[in-house]
Amino acid sequence: MSILRLLPANAQISGQVFFKDVNLLALPEKQMRAYRWRELAIVFQGAMNALNPVMRVGEQIREAILLHGLMPMREADLRVGELLELVGIPRERGGQYPFQYSGGMRQRAMIAMALACSPSILFADEPTTALDVMVQAQVLELLKEIQQRLGLAIVLVTHDLGVVAETCDSVVVMYGGKVAEYGPVDVIFNDPQHPYTQKLLESFPDLNEPTTGPGHSLASIPGTPPRLTELPPGCRFEPRCHLRIEKCKTQSPPLLQVGEQHFAACHLLAFPDKPHE
Ligand code: SF4
Repeated sequence: MSILRLLPANAQISGQVFFKDVNLLALPEKQMRAYRWRELAIVFQGAMNALNPVMRVGEQIREAILLHGLMPMREADLRVGELLELVGIPRERGGQYPFQYSGGMRQRAMIAMALACSPSILFADEPTTALDVMVQAQVLELLKEIQQRLGLAIVLVTHDLGVVAETCDSVVVMYGGKVAEYGPVDVIFNDPQHPYTQKLLESFPDLNEPTTGPGHSLASIPGTPPRLTELPPGCRFEPRCHLRIEKCKTQSPPLLQVGEQHFAACHLLAFPDKPHE
């Protein structure tokens, strides 16, 4: 929401967001509109219910194409068919209403709509929430396929570590609105450096791991995440961190390079010569 500048007017965003050398946060709203949907598209959380119930699915996708003035009506109709087929929906079903679709199909239709303007980056916010496990797997498979076929980047926002392990190349672990750790997926899963990432992974069941497999209770992190309006002054994870030291209370840890393309923000990892902003 921050990257696409879709937050409410009273929200504050710090830092910069660069897309192809342009700082999106510094653009006037009118110019920003040229990036939304055409370059940066999003499939919202709960998107399955975001379709207009009284409009045929194909028309809704066509509307998105026409609204951005990408092509005349006739070509747009052909494009709708292509997009539906791309996400595995027969093009003739574009004439149906959302209630005639299953949950998985509605999610696919939303993905088709997000792809209408051939974006460079697709943000998918919890795209499989509320879908059953089989349909979840199909939607994730579809996203992977689309990513490879169209060569776009997908930013998947999820709480599900299994989805991350299955689908992603790189992971950014966020805590309290800040980056806790960032790196290639295999590095994060096999050699996590931040205490939060370590705990997060311990709380995830692993059938091959004797301490987290069947018959064992899962680890949990005591406490609750901070409210974004009442953040702790130092490290945001400090109130819940089992490894905290004195300065964690007052000083926010910088993001440090801890390996090749691997970064983490924790005072325990301080290598003062390698700060990374
Ligand atoms: S900076 Fe301190 S509180 Fe934060 S994760 Fe590291 S050890 Fe824990």
